[in-house]
Amino acid sequence: MNAQEKPKVLIIIFGATGDLAKRKLYPSIYRLVRNETISQDFAVVGLARRNWSDDVYRQNVMESVEQAFGDCEELESFASHFHYQSFDVTDEGNYLQVKELVEKLESEYDTNGNRLFYLAMAPEFFGSIANNLKEYGLKETAGWTRLIIEKPFGHDLKTAKELNSQIREAFDEEQIYRIDHYLGKQMVQNIEVIRFANGIFEHLWNNRFISNIQITSSETLGVEDRSRYYDDSGAIRDMVQNHMLQMVALLAMEPPIKLTTDEIRSEKIKVLRALRQLEPDHVHEHFVRGQYGSGVVNDEEVIGYRKESEDLVFSNTETFVAGKILIDNYRWAGVPFYIRTGKRMSEKRTKIVIEFKDIPMNLYFKSDREHHPNLLVINIQPDEGIALYLNAKKAGAEALAEPIELSYKQGAMPAINTPEAYEKLLYDSMIGDATNFTHWDEVALSWKYIDPILQVWQNEQPNFPNYESGSMGPKKSDKLLGQDGFHWWEV
Ligand code: NAP
Repeated sequence: MNAQEKPKVLIIIFGATGDLAKRKLYPSIYRLVRNETISQDFAVVGLARRNWSDDVYRQNVMESVEQAFGDCEELESFASHFHYQSFDVTDEGNYLQVKELVEKLESEYDTNGNRLFYLAMAPEFFGSIANNLKEYGLKETAGWTRLIIEKPFGHDLKTAKELNSQIREAFDEEQIYRIDHYLGKQMVQNIEVIRFANGIFEHLWNNRFISNIQITSSETLGVEDRSRYYDDSGAIRDMVQNHMLQMVALLAMEPPIKLTTDEIRSEKIKVLRALRQLEPDHVHEHFVRGQYGSGVVNDEEVIGYRKESEDLVFSNTETFVAGKILIDNYRWAGVPFYIRTGKRMSEKRTKIVIEFKDIPMNLYFKSDREHHPNLLVINIQPDEGIALYLNAKKAGAEALAEPIELSYKQGAMPAINTPEAYEKLLYDSMIGDATNFTHWDEVALSWKYIDPILQVWQNEQPNFPNYESGSMGPKKSDKLLGQDGFHWWEV
């Protein structure tokens, strides 16, 4: 496709009545159309079991867009491009009807035969949908066909491999877009720019000058109404295997020789290959798990995880993970990458703190305790921006220093309207740019790293709950850094 051309596409959404479609996909498609990022020649086929008419479907699409953005212009005309078909993935006969509808719509809308299949439903269906799309001829078209797959991609390395080989029977790797919505976030994409466009950072970006890197992704919410999914997954599968390890890879990768999908992916893959695999005996030294008890979050009393639903009374699922990840290569030998993520913590925030090594002597602080190393903080969400902590002279006669903060907030710039992650990723998939999606090798290597931790944990009885709602996790998470002489930076 010519870079100037706006993508024309027919989007087929499996799971069109679900939460993800409503909260993320419809608002994102609306923005892409409204901002004329994609062509007005588009159509959407919504598939799910509910017996909806086109009108009911369109009403739902309009409501979800309004919920996201308030009153919107030309909403009815936008919604008129949406078509619904009641469909059960377990009934193969339904695929021929979908094919008929798709072909009919392609003759009505000028979409060049481009088909984007979006699997926004439970992962157990991914393999069979992919195969039936091939079997029933839905891949046969004059345009391109691409498949977007939501997380989770497998439950461990073995199931991920099984799923991948099922999907690969029907689609080539280049046609598969595995979503990791963190990769669609502006500030996650900015990690590369901050590193590779600034000499003052990139020259120092190694084990000579950095003492440790900390990545935190904390939620104030509990499990909400997703307990069935979450309890089967837990924080390590839900957050670490994908989002957290992807951020580690972006922070640790070598500069790519070009900004192409293949070059960037290959550098990320090298990092994942260099992760130090944990022997079972070392899992406790490197990883801490937690589950929230009751407590107070945002001035409200909240219940513990095991009280959230009857099914969770005896649950041993972790709602918090902290880990120390080591990367065995020249650049990072000896530098711990600490990660932590959890629910019902004291604040909702995703941030990265890069702690630089200290100068050898403390000349300007009264005690070593006051001494502040230089920090670079990359704020991913909800605030987007960067902050640099330096030391400067304190006003007054004494030769004393104090930490100062230089900060830049993305949202503070007028007229910058950061696209939502899903909007960016949907667009990328339409133009065939897979850079911000995960390649199979990345998925496999991430599971390979996580599997030994899961195995040790599943054979042991944890002492849960072990952190209060509204805190920053269990005490052991602080000890994880304390034993190395560091602490979590709450900056
Ligand atoms: P959901 O709200 O439970 O929606 C599931 C959808 O699948 C519904 O539209 C449901 O509609 C449809 N469905 C279920 N069984 C079906 C069948 N046999 N045949 C056809 N349709 C069927 O789930 P979700 O939260 O949207 O999540 C969808 C996917 O996105 C999952 O893989 C999830 O892990 C992933 N994800 C979700 C979020 C999120 O924020 N929600 C975030 C990240 C990833 P009917 O009941 O009408 O059939």
